[in-house]
Amino acid sequence: MDFLRPASWEEALAAKAEHPTAVPIAGGTDVMVEINFDHRRPEYLLDLNRIGELSEWEVGQESVRLGASVPYSAIMEHLRAELPGLALASHTVASPQIRNRGGVGGNLGTASPAGDAHPALLAAGAEVEAESVRGTRLIPIDAFYTGVKRNALEPDELIRAVHIRKADGPQQYSKVGTRNAMVIAVCAFGLALHPETRTVRTGIGSAAPTPVRAKEAEAFLNAALDEGGFWESGKIITPAIAKQFAALASGACNPIDDVRGTAKYRRHAVGIMARRTLGWTWEQYRGAGRTLEGAA
Ligand SMILES: Cc1cc2nc3c(=O)[nH]c(=O)nc-3n(C[C@H](O)[C@H](O)[C@H](O)COP(=O)(O)OP(=O)(O)OC[C@H]3O[C@@H](n4cnc5c(N)ncnc54)[C@H](O)[C@@H]3O)c2cc1C
Repeated sequence: MDFLRPASWEEALAAKAEHPTAVPIAGGTDVMVEINFDHRRPEYLLDLNRIGELSEWEVGQESVRLGASVPYSAIMEHLRAELPGLALASHTVASPQIRNRGGVGGNLGTASPAGDAHPALLAAGAEVEAESVRGTRLIPIDAFYTGVKRNALEPDELIRAVHIRKADGPQQYSKVGTRNAMVIAVCAFGLALHPETRTVRTGIGSAAPTPVRAKEAEAFLNAALDEGGFWESGKIITPAIAKQFAALASGACNPIDDVRGTAKYRRHAVGIMARRTLGWTWEQYRGAGRTLEGAA
């Protein structure tokens, strides 16, 4: 196995163009597990750790440009206000050691349906900045996951950054696991309220072959909140609306039975998480945020 160690982003792109089968390694918390268990024996490893810019982020007017290798611990520490859903999801990843090494670029590279960043990215709205020597493109997050552990990257492309919309309202992330730490999700749910556009977005993890949005549930809730004047009044969402939202979120799942849980359990749990995250975010919206908005 050859170890390629580019000193710059341009060198990394050139190396990937020359060796499209080279496996990028960032934190290594997925790659090294696969190599140690002999699940993968790549001809080339492409080490991205000398490229400092991948661990940096920029907060813009509307979005955060998050370098591919920014570790979860930095998201939790520095980007809680801008990216609350992703910060909450980051909290649930593994242990402090893994959170100091692993990042969103690696989670996207692996594209496991159970990756914790995905529901938060789907709910917030994000684009993946993919680059090769041929140029740069922004891949909408909805189009990024193409199958079980498959993504939309071309063989010569690398992820440079992820552009994530800054929160304009409350966001939540909920995860079911067999214990509180060091656990891969049995299933997970992310929800983001977007008061500016009066819309709600969701993300489901580990309950379908890829991370998915519960689009019918979103459409139902958006219409119900609009028709009932909920965004203006901030009144409590009726149990009937919350129940139907949860049922539609459950229906968006296409899970399997596996060692972590049954398909039936996953569908049920996603419905519960949908209802709870809706309750939590709506309470936040009714509270501090709206009072400040009203006073302004
Ligand atoms: C003990 C343990 C517990 C874990 N618990 C969780 C958990 O609770 N939740 C969770 O979501 N994950 C968990 N993981 C998995 C892992 O930590 C995450 O998926 C993490 O985000 C991977 O990031 P990384 O930088 O270490 O990726 P790496 O291992 O370096 O890479 C992962 C994949 O992404 C590719 N890649 C990396 N960077 C780029 C790039 N810039 N461009 C293109 N491709 C790239 C690699 O080639 C590889 O295919 C756990 C892992 C371990 C070992």
